[in-house]
Amino acid sequence: MPAMFIESSIDLLKRHTEEGPTRDEEDFMRVACCVMDANAFETAQIPKQVINNKPTLSTEEERPLNGLVPSLRGLYPLAAMMNHACTPNTRHGYDEKQKMTVRAASLIPAGSEITSSYTSLLWGTSARRHHLKITKHFLCSCLRCRDPQEGGSRLAALRCLTQSCEGCMFPEEPLEENTQWQCEVCGLQVTGRQASLTQATLGRLLSIVDNRNVPQMERFFSQHQNVMPSSNQIVIEVKCNLIRSYGHAQGYSWTDVTMQQLELKERLCRELLELLETLGAGECRMRGLVLYELHCTLMEQRHRRRNDLMESTVQVRQAS
Ligand SMILES: [Zn+2]
Ligand SMILES: [Zn+2]
Repeated sequence: MPAMFIESSIDLLKRHTEEGPTRDEEDFMRVACCVMDANAFETAQIPKQVINNKPTLSTEEERPLNGLVPSLRGLYPLAAMMNHACTPNTRHGYDEKQKMTVRAASLIPAGSEITSSYTSLLWGTSARRHHLKITKHFLCSCLRCRDPQEGGSRLAALRCLTQSCEGCMFPEEPLEENTQWQCEVCGLQVTGRQASLTQATLGRLLSIVDNRNVPQMERFFSQHQNVMPSSNQIVIEVKCNLIRSYGHAQGYSWTDVTMQQLELKERLCRELLELLETLGAGECRMRGLVLYELHCTLMEQRHRRRNDLMESTVQVRQAS
């Protein structure tokens, strides 16, 4: 829970109780909220029947809030013992009773630490660290966070500002907020502030792309190389949204999408799998989902090719 929400919860309590909490009680509430934030896991979305059977929940609460679907948070004492790593060696899930299961995502040698992630696997270092600071109240300094190129994934890469240069810029000291950024090819250096401004501008570009509008995303994807490298987290996000849309979005079902769109989806799935491999993410949930989407794409392509072949065989027979 970001600090502003903690404060607004305390304000709400003050307004609705006669005496309100004492200063000590307020401090305790802040600590309790922070402990809850740092240790709780966001579980699956609240099942519809649970919402429907709960008489205390108003119609207003049943609706998604500002586009967010209501979710539960749970404290799991054993799972809470796992420390965070930006590329964790486990994945976890929940059954319909919110019971958590933790599985190894990669080979964990005896005696090594078992880790879990509290943030997005596909965000760049500054975005992940900012998110962890706001929601979990700590700054991560794991192996991936310390590496300017994040194990070769280059998620935070920015295009070099030298016009004739094809290189990318990376932070020199990723754990320092105002670190200089340097081009890997021409050596151009820019301040952390300039790099943040560039990132913010790119973020604004993404914010005007509606992730339900497939033509808009396709346009963004085909033109992104003019302003940012393909490995940048923003491009990765658009790739994920396109993968999610082809075959599922309204007007883009498996029978609606063109062969070119299927080919693009196949390419994007393979690129994403390669990125997960580079990150060393192992058998993570994302890998499972992308493999499933790739399987469906290949099946659809095969189905269409077989139909085309049968049609042309019939035509040849008719002609002879
Ligand atoms: Zn980290
Ligand atoms: Zn350069």
